[in-house]
Amino acid sequence: MKRTKIIDILKSTDFDQKVCVKGWVRTKRGSKAVNFIALNDGSTIKNVQVVADVEKFDPELIKQITTGACLSVEGILVQSQGAGQSSEIQATDIVLLGACGSDYPMQKKGQSFEYMRQHAHLRLRTNTFGAVMRIRHNMAMAIHRYFHEHGFYYFNTPIITASDCEGAGEMFQVTTKNLYDLKKDEEGKIDYSDDFFGKMTSLTVSGQLEGELGATALGAIYTFGPTFRAENSNTPRHLAEFWMIEPEVAFYDINDNMDLAEDFIKYCVRWALDNCQDDLEFLNKMIDNTLLERLHFVLEHDFVRLKYTEGISILEEAVKNGHKFEFPVSWGMDLASEHERYLVEQHFKKPVILTDYPKEIKAFYMKLNDDGKTVRAMDVLFPQIGEIIGGSEREDDYDKLMGRINELDIPMKDMWWYLDTRKFGSCPHSGFGLGFERLILFVTGMQNIRDVIPFPRTPKTAEF
Ligand code: ATP
Ligand code: MN
Repeated sequence: MKRTKIIDILKSTDFDQKVCVKGWVRTKRGSKAVNFIALNDGSTIKNVQVVADVEKFDPELIKQITTGACLSVEGILVQSQGAGQSSEIQATDIVLLGACGSDYPMQKKGQSFEYMRQHAHLRLRTNTFGAVMRIRHNMAMAIHRYFHEHGFYYFNTPIITASDCEGAGEMFQVTTKNLYDLKKDEEGKIDYSDDFFGKMTSLTVSGQLEGELGATALGAIYTFGPTFRAENSNTPRHLAEFWMIEPEVAFYDINDNMDLAEDFIKYCVRWALDNCQDDLEFLNKMIDNTLLERLHFVLEHDFVRLKYTEGISILEEAVKNGHKFEFPVSWGMDLASEHERYLVEQHFKKPVILTDYPKEIKAFYMKLNDDGKTVRAMDVLFPQIGEIIGGSEREDDYDKLMGRINELDIPMKDMWWYLDTRKFGSCPHSGFGLGFERLILFVTGMQNIRDVIPFPRTPKTAEF
């Protein structure tokens, strides 16, 4: 008989019909006469209740229906007498597809997230991780829909790159060289001419530079792919391998860019509220009971738009009034997460878009303001997360861009193609990068970025 997904069974009112469901046992309870089996197949956070009259089944089979076991069940869909569910299945046939011993690591409820991470291959079967993964999928759908509906083209940038101007020191090298027998020249340097690509290559830290090539031809593009950073930051907000969404748009200035960022994030949050109700309600109950409130709050308020210089004044004022930060505050410094969160959570109590940062703490390609000191950068700062988006209007003037490159002594020899965009029909353009997992953190209320990606990659962890 054809299987029906549990999400559809629970919506069905075709009572007294025969159905087939397959899934994993969450719990079994009951008496000598009747067993109630809660079955879940991942299609929804909700379980379907299977009612089994014990005398109708082989006692050996009944014994093997334990938490974690996989079953195929045929039976009659009936209206439920019990509270909290509208239908259940009166079992006629049960086949044990896979037994599950009492050493099943996900047996006990309420295990710590650390424990779950050590069992990331099985944590997906828990309510929390099921909910997070379904929301993650929905956010990916929302992102593609948003851009498609707004006339952006999905543009795939390379994962292996030879440009090292952006992520110096933070990149994972890619090589087919025999590391046990590395030949070096007289200066102790490695000769890459006989390596696979004939030059030193790495995993990308961002698709932006190639994204700009797309935008200055197709008008508006977005990337959505994996990015890699070998930064040794052991924080709840950093992964070594994460997914990034990077829209890039021709003829956008920084204000258009901010409008896009705000509208886009709100669309994603609204999508979650409209399409992930059951999972969000579960997370609101079990993980963070201010989650739903926070999601609605973001939708209902305009983001504050503030210049870096004004942000620093607010922080300095806070220090004067006795607020203690771990790191000192002064104009010119990069904001730490504690500063970003102070502005968002305590001062404005709203998401903040901070703009016009000192050029020294931002990337070389950001457009210089007339003051000669600040650049048209924009970071979107969110409650609990800090920076969720980093972006800017790009420097479109060839001479100014070269000026920055020379000042910073950036290795551009493999980057002639990037400079060509400023030589041949240059145009104003802007874009930003959104960390996919940071968005998922916000939308799920989870506390640690390791718990919103199926198999996290962090320093000293590459299991599974
Ligand atoms: P942070 O200061 O938080 O390290 P960043 O300034 O290095 O961020 P960008 O280079 O601007 O970040 O990258 C764009 C976006 O990618 C960030 O706003 C963030 O959402 C996300 N991001 C950056 N680094 C990581 C990381 N290691 N893990 C997960 N997401 C990240
Ligand atoms: Mn970083």
